[in-house]
Amino acid sequence: KLYNEVQDLKGNIRVYCRIRPFLKGQSQKQTTIEYIGDNGELVVTNPSKIAKESHRSFKFNKIFSPAATQEEVFVDTQPLIRSVLDGYNVCIFAYGQTGSGKTYTMTGPNVSSPEDWGVNYRALNDLFYLSQGRRNSFDYEIGVQMVEIYNEQVRDLLSSNITQRRYPSFLTSYWAKRWVLTFSLSLHTHTLKKDVYLDFHTLGIWNSTQPNGLAVPDASMHSVTSTADVLELMNVGLMNRAVGATALNERSSRSHSVLTVHVRGTDLETNAVLRGNLHLVDLAGSERVDRSEATGDRLREAQHINKSLSALGDVIFALAQKSQHVPYRNSKLTQLLQSSLGGQAKTLMFVQLNPDVESYSETISTLKFAERVS
Ligand code: ADP
Ligand code: MG
Repeated sequence: KLYNEVQDLKGNIRVYCRIRPFLKGQSQKQTTIEYIGDNGELVVTNPSKIAKESHRSFKFNKIFSPAATQEEVFVDTQPLIRSVLDGYNVCIFAYGQTGSGKTYTMTGPNVSSPEDWGVNYRALNDLFYLSQGRRNSFDYEIGVQMVEIYNEQVRDLLSSNITQRRYPSFLTSYWAKRWVLTFSLSLHTHTLKKDVYLDFHTLGIWNSTQPNGLAVPDASMHSVTSTADVLELMNVGLMNRAVGATALNERSSRSHSVLTVHVRGTDLETNAVLRGNLHLVDLAGSERVDRSEATGDRLREAQHINKSLSALGDVIFALAQKSQHVPYRNSKLTQLLQSSLGGQAKTLMFVQLNPDVESYSETISTLKFAERVS
């Protein structure tokens, strides 16, 4: 296999840690990060002087210091993404408390400047580059879906009825032309109900590594042929994500957003078909919500986030243990990601850290999550 460069003995799960820099105006603050080793060792200091355990050490496949650029992060992610063109299923997600840099890593701070692009844009850009250039014995088709999971409900971020509310008619008809499925899978574009709660369809056979089939949300699939297409689509997705945020502020930190890239390659000589998919996930903030303070909607959100993040942890833990039973069905998130977790699939988790001392207890709980699954 051409791009099968990333082979990890631990069931193809790798864990990278990324520490974000202090933000402007934060520079006086003390850091909890004591040591970053070249071998992936991280030591954090407990700011409390009276703590029994003042230093703790954790191990990762790779650590990105606050100085790491988007480009440097992508270099170590690229081989995984390229393996999608060989028919692998890949899942990349960012885990951490709100403000730790998940969206920065996955999407980037500023879409209009390519050096700021996060993994999502770079991944798609790279897939187009390769699918059109180097691998010209294959004809590739690429389609994307983008959904949000909020309170265990799945919402299409690229659906027609949402965009129609937001866009002038010329744009709407432009998008309408794109609601085309390119795959010979039995997916269909769906006339979405007013309030868009989606179910999953499980496709019979996806590929030989996934005999259980692929859980595909009943969300619109968009054919893309260039990075420009993707930029436009993702802008729509991000805007639609923001629409929901008016009712509950900062909703994006309390929902998971999942960009799914479906790749279908046809070998031009033999007509053999291979399929791969890539899930790029910006998870909801992992911070614990104080139960004595949260009530109503806020408590319900917190419970759903808690449930789905622990379901994700349980799945990855089961995979790392090579357990017979992998509990995919305990959350919508793990159901959706099933095809790219386990089996031949490759999984990468970015563990995002805020270096601030005030974040110490969240940092430790993030690191414990990572420790359990790696
Ligand atoms: P999250 O999505 O985890 O809530 P964000 O990605 O929104 O966190 O990051 C919080 C803030 O920190 C944003 O202002 C973001 O631009 C900034 N930030 C995060 N990571 C970095 C980084 N590696 N370099 C510079 N700024 C960053
Ligand atoms: Mg975010």
